[in-house]
Amino acid sequence: MASSLRIAIVGAGPAGLAAALLLSRDGHRVEILEKFDAPKPLGSGLILQPTGMCVLSKLGLMPAMLAQGARIERLHGADARTGRTVLDVRYDALPGGRFGLGVHRAALFNVLHDAVGAAGIPIRTSTEAAGIDVSASRATLTGDGGAALGSYDLVIDASGSKSRLKASCYKPAEPRPLAYGAFWASLAWHGEGFDRNALQQRYVKARVMIGVLPIGRIAPAAGEMAAFFWSLKPADVERVKARRIDAWKDDVAGYWPDCQPYLDQISSFDDLTLARYGHHTLKMPAGRRLAVIGDAAHSTSPQLGQGANMALLDAAALAQALRLYPDIADALAAYAATRRFHVRLFQALSLTLTPFYQSDSTVVPFLRDTLVATVAKVPPVPRILALMVSGMLARPLAATGLIEADWAAFSAEPRLG
Ligand SMILES: Cc1cc2nc3c(=O)[nH]c(=O)nc-3n(C[C@H](O)[C@H](O)[C@H](O)COP(=O)(O)OP(=O)(O)OC[C@H]3O[C@@H](n4cnc5c(N)ncnc54)[C@H](O)[C@@H]3O)c2cc1C
Repeated sequence: MASSLRIAIVGAGPAGLAAALLLSRDGHRVEILEKFDAPKPLGSGLILQPTGMCVLSKLGLMPAMLAQGARIERLHGADARTGRTVLDVRYDALPGGRFGLGVHRAALFNVLHDAVGAAGIPIRTSTEAAGIDVSASRATLTGDGGAALGSYDLVIDASGSKSRLKASCYKPAEPRPLAYGAFWASLAWHGEGFDRNALQQRYVKARVMIGVLPIGRIAPAAGEMAAFFWSLKPADVERVKARRIDAWKDDVAGYWPDCQPYLDQISSFDDLTLARYGHHTLKMPAGRRLAVIGDAAHSTSPQLGQGANMALLDAAALAQALRLYPDIADALAAYAATRRFHVRLFQALSLTLTPFYQSDSTVVPFLRDTLVATVAKVPPVPRILALMVSGMLARPLAATGLIEADWAAFSAEPRLG
């Protein structure tokens, strides 16, 4: 194991906060630098997959997450015009009791952030890292204007897809913008017409996609919520807004009338957040005294719902590599090698599958609604789809020093919706 290192983690998202906890528990002296004045989560909700939950379980944070999340057993999508099911993936297609957990981003952030606070890990806010200078023995983080922010044995870039530090890794790459993004909103949960244990979507070809994801509570005593999303091209946003909010709400209700209670909670476009998606994968998520984890290392569209889970796996893999290798360069090489296949597989799957749900193509969604929808019911395809959605394809746990969580014990948690 590397001796106690002085480590800077840039970014207080899921990757950075989880890495801080894991590394501080291993005896390293960790400091988090975050550009916001108060650390805060961005966006609406997400699905914690079995992979991500195994990391949170290792950190002892699952009881807190289960008290706030919504159990997701199934991902279901139907054609908006015919009602025909074209996507139906169930976690229980495989034995073992796995499930997903819909969570509000703020709930995930608060649970990790509280644990970081309880561990006494310092977070320097209003501190934006712009670059890194590396000498033989130290890495110096710099801010805008070149001011030194501190010197460290190792810098971990967990600053998300717009990372500035990834330019200093061995093989830099920038995200390529994807044509489609989405409007997102976190709204009060309305159950009528919806399954409280499923992500549900409606499509018209791949041009229209509407989704409702139960995300549980923002705090244990708060009301239940749903993440609502509407796929659109960022390039079309001004045109959509020019038609006014009621015209857009009429469009959505026309495709999916059950959404009306959600639409009633939206009074202006200010209630919707536009998410832009991009895609990149670093060939080598490391540089000299620099590890790159999470969205900084690999970003993609959220179609497969893996990003935060991959970020948590990266954090666990890096901590494991630093445990196994006393030399930092060896540990960084081991971290990259451990994650390489799993990351590339899921990035490739995401890039391939996204046009089935978000594109101008007519052929690809036609295949989705006919051929794919039929094949998806034929064994062993349901099991493969369950493996894919849960993030477990290519067995990412063992190499990362993780063990499968006790799903049956989690299912017994009292508050799980
Ligand atoms: C609409 C949407 C839906 C999604 N749905 C899912 C889902 O269902 N399941 C899933 O697993 N994933 C989902 N994702 C992806 C997921 O949100 C990301 O993969 C995850 O947040 C990545 O975590 P991260 O810690 O790497 O980066 P981030 O969450 O982006 O955190 C980066 C942090 O770094 C800080 N920072 C940035 N630059 C600097 C700097 N220069 N100096 C200091 N601090 C800096 C930022 O302020 C931020 O706090 C979704 C994403 C979007 C946009």
